[in-house]
Amino acid sequence: MTNRYDLIIVGTGFAGAFFLKRYLEHAPENSKVLVLERGQRDEKPWQLANRRTSSISPEEVFYNNNPEKEWLTSPGFGGNSKCWWAGATRMMPGDFQLKSRYGVGEDWPMAYEDLEPHYNVVEQVMAISGPVDSPMPRSQPFPLPPHRFSDPDALLKRHFPDGWYQPPTARASAPTGTRGVCCASGICDLCPVDAKFTIQNGLAHLYQDPRVSLLLGAAVDKVETSGGIARDVVYTKDGRTDRAAADLVVLAASALFNPHILLRSGIGHRLLGKRLHEQMSVDVCLDLAGVKSYNGSSNISGNGYLFYEGEHRREYAGCLIETWNSPFSYGRSSLRLENKRWNERAYLRFMFDDLPREDNLVRVYAANPNMAETIFNGYSDYAMRGMDRIPKMVEKLGEALPIEGIESISIGRTTAHIQGTVVMGNDPSKSIVDRHLIHHQVRNLLVLGASSYPTASPAYPTVTVSALSLWAADHLFVARV
Ligand SMILES: Cc1cc2nc3c(=O)[nH]c(=O)nc-3n(C[C@H](O)[C@H](O)[C@H](O)COP(=O)(O)OP(=O)(O)OC[C@H]3O[C@@H](n4cnc5c(N)ncnc54)[C@H](O)[C@@H]3O)c2cc1C
Repeated sequence: MTNRYDLIIVGTGFAGAFFLKRYLEHAPENSKVLVLERGQRDEKPWQLANRRTSSISPEEVFYNNNPEKEWLTSPGFGGNSKCWWAGATRMMPGDFQLKSRYGVGEDWPMAYEDLEPHYNVVEQVMAISGPVDSPMPRSQPFPLPPHRFSDPDALLKRHFPDGWYQPPTARASAPTGTRGVCCASGICDLCPVDAKFTIQNGLAHLYQDPRVSLLLGAAVDKVETSGGIARDVVYTKDGRTDRAAADLVVLAASALFNPHILLRSGIGHRLLGKRLHEQMSVDVCLDLAGVKSYNGSSNISGNGYLFYEGEHRREYAGCLIETWNSPFSYGRSSLRLENKRWNERAYLRFMFDDLPREDNLVRVYAANPNMAETIFNGYSDYAMRGMDRIPKMVEKLGEALPIEGIESISIGRTTAHIQGTVVMGNDPSKSIVDRHLIHHQVRNLLVLGASSYPTASPAYPTVTVSALSLWAADHLFVARV
């Protein structure tokens, strides 16, 4: 006999955990929730001993058609919270209105103001460290004080007070009771002191709730529907196929695997799996005269908003700048070779928003349908035009920094912010889920996470992923707007 639940959630990353949090706050005592998670609980000591965040390697779950472009994922309990770097910016109000403000891309089907209260909750739960000032409107301060700027950041802040900020981050700046203080060692994926927020150190208690059954090692194959209603979720555990039924089914398996499950379920749409995208990142190393870098108190020590919002977004991509505080991240060294000048260098990452292309996509891997396949044919011209502006942008930064020259400009292989494959919107012919992330056709099916993003903003995606899950759960119980 098929086991029956009120709710089945697929995935235990940010999207699934924040939805579960809000659901349990509303749900009656006798609710029955099943959570299906493909991976295991790979605990911190195991991760550190093995120098990896998941016992499942990415190659076991998806095939990358274009190795020049990386897509990163860490399967298992906690999802990518295990390996994320904990950058925690909100989106800017204009990111929600690219089309109506600037005539490009798509508008999101909600406004910044709709998510603002949810952003506050997420920041509290993650104990975000952040500045007292902000480039976007905020109704509450950050729970933890900001990290210290590096010297170049301090100069940039002095010259551009409304353009440079201490970065909001879930890398703790003070002890939280469960997490240590960031050690600024620049190996955030494996954070050696457990300073960054993860599902394991922040929301694991949800899965102990007596209403919740967590099934690890259960890889969801498909959702079966009949009469336009999601009925059973079919999964494979220990080589055996099983099924469970629920009144409400929530996919929170990420922008790589939400479309994979939907495609395998035959719940199609012209856009399903298409518009795979993330920001285009460009690393820029600048040689400085007499200013020393890498002395901030966390891995990213500054966020630049000078080239983010504004009329230029009609022509080319908005850009968020990160100042890297660790010269050795991602296996590269950003030190100078001259005697006593090793740290007279600013290592900046420019993250440009990208306009999604339909020829970048996720599909079912023909050689092994249990795996997804990613196809990537390039960034949008819009993002590339943004990159062309970098020399001009550097000239502007030169008003604050003694720049001797540009040492290098190189496109990164990934920002690790996968988005856009189950897009949301108001028009069912142009979107797959609605503004509350409910599937337009299958109304008891929600598809959460950055798969819903109509466009990539320059901001990090995950605080918004989490806020959207709270917004979606609230809607089921209260808002009905
Ligand atoms: C190295 C790295 C660094 C990052 N740094 C940042 C950062 O600094 N700031 C930021 O905002 N974002 C960052 N990100 C992105 C961030 O991790 C994602 O935006 C976020 O994890 C998305 O949350 P999610 O819950 O939608 O997906 P995930 O966290 O990927 O969780 C999906 C879950 O679903 C499970 N699952 C998948 N398929 C199935 C299936 N078929 N059956 C059952 N379970 C399944 C997975 O095992 C996983 O638990 C980073 C990502 C990486 C990889």
